[in-house]
Amino acid sequence: MLLQVLGTAAGGGLPQWNCACPGCSGARAHPHWRRRHASLAVRADRDRWYIVNATPDIGDQIESVAGLWPGPEPRRTPVAGLVLTDAELDHTLGIARLREAKSLEVLTTAPVCDALLTKLRLGEVLGPYTRLGWRDLPLDRPVPLTPGSGVEISAIPVSGKRPRYAAGGPGGPDDGAWVVALRLTERATGTTALYAPALAAWPPALHRAATEADCVIVDGTFWDDEEPRRSGISARTATGMGHLPIDGPGGTARLLAPLTGRRLYTHLNNTNPLVDPAAPQHKVLAELGIEVAADGMVIEP
Ligand SMILES: [Zn+2]
Repeated sequence: MLLQVLGTAAGGGLPQWNCACPGCSGARAHPHWRRRHASLAVRADRDRWYIVNATPDIGDQIESVAGLWPGPEPRRTPVAGLVLTDAELDHTLGIARLREAKSLEVLTTAPVCDALLTKLRLGEVLGPYTRLGWRDLPLDRPVPLTPGSGVEISAIPVSGKRPRYAAGGPGGPDDGAWVVALRLTERATGTTALYAPALAAWPPALHRAATEADCVIVDGTFWDDEEPRRSGISARTATGMGHLPIDGPGGTARLLAPLTGRRLYTHLNNTNPLVDPAAPQHKVLAELGIEVAADGMVIEP
């Protein structure tokens, strides 16, 4: 299996255009601090890739990896489609950026698809430009990433948190599937990877998948639960904002520490001390055997 990390920042990116916090200012002073919005490309077969989450940076993210460039025919692209883990704007605005496509396949769960069609009205808005083909991303039942692909994908619900633009709608049977983790399995080798850029909880099904996975890439939005309040970006805690923190008694570091596969954090908010490459928190994670994903990283679980 081949995974290409296209971005590792939470919503806003690093730096965020209207922010002068130490992280964003640091990224302006030191270009190597910069991070694009969290995204991952997964190779479905020799020359077809799926991009997990369509961020506002998706055009630059495709250009940053030669394997995603079009050719040899003028309008032939190796980008076969998109997979969405949720309906948040920083994971979906990039769909409009790809409107030059003749057609665009989008794999996602029912509530996410419904929010994009009825709240963002993507079908109506993009209809005159491209044809969006929606495919259901099944929960806990693996399906080939694309017909004939050696990579299977399934979703594990991790949160019922809706994006703000879809708040307060009627509940449905799939309400737990507003945010999912993705389980990717290479059939030939049995190698598995788990990608969960947003985690509000650590349910038993996720724990099982994480324990079995050869590589786990998870939500590292906030270092600790008080970070959003302390930095003044929110009146809520990290958990209250739908992200389990890394550190502390309810944090994910202690859940990841005993696992045997490779473990990485992604989706770092600009307030997270980890955005400074010299921060002592990197050493804390390294001692637990946990890495921080970097833009451009290639992972072969
Ligand atoms: Zn900032």
